[in-house]
Amino acid sequence: MRLIEIFYSLQGEGPAMGRPATFVRLAGCNLSCQGCDTDDKPCMELSLPDVLESIQGRRVVITGGEPTMQMDQLTELISLLRGQGKEIHIETNGTNPIPETILEKIHCAVVSPKRGSHFHLAFWAGKENVHLKFVLGKAPWCWTSGLLEELVPALAKDRVWIMAYGAEQNMQGAREAWDLAMLLGVNYSDRLHIRLKKR
Ligand code: SF4
Repeated sequence: MRLIEIFYSLQGEGPAMGRPATFVRLAGCNLSCQGCDTDDKPCMELSLPDVLESIQGRRVVITGGEPTMQMDQLTELISLLRGQGKEIHIETNGTNPIPETILEKIHCAVVSPKRGSHFHLAFWAGKENVHLKFVLGKAPWCWTSGLLEELVPALAKDRVWIMAYGAEQNMQGAREAWDLAMLLGVNYSDRLHIRLKKR
C-alpha cells in the first residue's frame, strides 16, 4: 500500500487524545484542502506484512491522506490487525462510507468532514463507534460558528468534537473553539502535538 510514514507517538487530538499508538499515514486524498500538511509529502510502497512488522503496541491509528482511497488494501489491513487483537482507530474525511462489515472491526472512527464536501452525515452520525470532528477556522474547507450552530444540535453531543484550525504553536482560534464547544454542549479537542511540537 502507498504510505507516507509509520511512527509511534501519542494521539494529540480527538477522542483518544493522549493515548499511545502507532500511526499509519496512508498517501493520497480525494480532496485538496488549503494548508493540508500531508499532500506534498513523498510516499513509499510497502507490503502489508511490512506494515504489520512496523507496528508497535496494541493501538493503531490509520490516517492519511484519506485512507479510504486504498479501500481494498485498507480492508485487508484492518482484518489482519483485528486478527492480531489490535485496537483500530481510523481518521477519514467522510467522503467514502466504510462498509459496515469493516466498520464493525474498528474501535473508533474519527470523521472530520470538510466544508463543501459530500461527507454522508446521516451514515456516519448513526454509528456508535464514529466521532465527528469539525475544524473551526477561516480556511475555505473549515467550519464557521454559524454553520456548526445549525448542524450540531441534531447530532449525538458526546460524539462531536470541535477543534481549531492551525498548525501554529499558539493555536490561535483555540479559545473560540472552546467557547463554541461550551455553547453547544459538545467536546473540545486540542492539538497537543502541535502545541508541544511533536508529531
Ligand atoms: S481531507 Fe485531510 S488529507 Fe485530504 S486534503 Fe484535506 S486536510 Fe489533506
